[in-house]
Amino acid sequence: KSTATLIEKKKSDLTFKDVAGLEEAKVEIIEIVSFLKNPTVFTKLGAKIPKGVVLVGPPGTGKTLLAKAVAGEAQVPFFTLSGSEFVEMFVGVGASRVRDLFKRAKEKAPCIIFIDEIDAIGRSRGKGTFLSGANDERESTLNQLLTEMDGFGTNSGVIVLAATNRADLLDAALLRPGRFDRHIYLELPNKKEREEIFAVHLKPLVTDGKVDINFLASQTPGFSGADIANICNEAALIAARKKNEYVNKSDFLDAIDRVVAGLEKRSKIISPDE
Ligand code: ATP
Repeated sequence: KSTATLIEKKKSDLTFKDVAGLEEAKVEIIEIVSFLKNPTVFTKLGAKIPKGVVLVGPPGTGKTLLAKAVAGEAQVPFFTLSGSEFVEMFVGVGASRVRDLFKRAKEKAPCIIFIDEIDAIGRSRGKGTFLSGANDERESTLNQLLTEMDGFGTNSGVIVLAATNRADLLDAALLRPGRFDRHIYLELPNKKEREEIFAVHLKPLVTDGKVDINFLASQTPGFSGADIANICNEAALIAARKKNEYVNKSDFLDAIDRVVAGLEKRSKIISPDE
């Protein structure tokens, strides 16, 4: 992969309107938007703005989406880095990438750094990884990340958001005060929240006007926001394949079947004995 995919500065057009449900997480993270927009309100009272926040939740629950929405709401640049990409890297590259990322972010403050899959870098030392030899590299990357977190001032205008499915795997050093000392939890959506997510992802589709969001939500217990987005797109693809003019209920039912089949396949790969 090119380095361009590793560190990108993007403007985010997403806002909280694009994030359905997740009300508690939004309430907590809205404070970050206020810090970025108007830091002096906080600093003049002597408040220390948090540097690092971990978004914790199952795959597809909207962690990346929420981080982008924070950048969009605050209208600040968004730098991203994915933990898993470090696993593939040459020795010494990870640490220098981290250094480079923080240097660039500080120049553009106020801004957000988003580290997806932080557990790939910040896994508790000694808990082992899939690749031996990748371990030293991961550790030097983690150490660099800790150094950077300590090195920038509390009120420098850089806020680091990180995402993980498994907060319990994270190295305790990452979670110390002044580093990633705040956690925001994202849960799988309940029925009402699934309705809201369907509403967001139905908006761009041309349906026959009879698609019932309540029914779709009742057919999709345990589905994530990403699964629902996937269903809506699949339904449109199915309708297009049939050369239909509108996306209708049966296209959604077919799409749900298809996504369920995909999920089953995925879980078989993960747990072949079950
Ligand atoms: P992963 O852990 O797999 O990286 P994630 O939690 O970061 O997943 P996202 O990448 O943010 O999940 O979600 C994928 C897509 O699913 C989003 O781009 C969006 O289209 C849809 N989605 C997920 N959650 C929501 C939500 N709460 N509201 C609207 N759309 C959602």
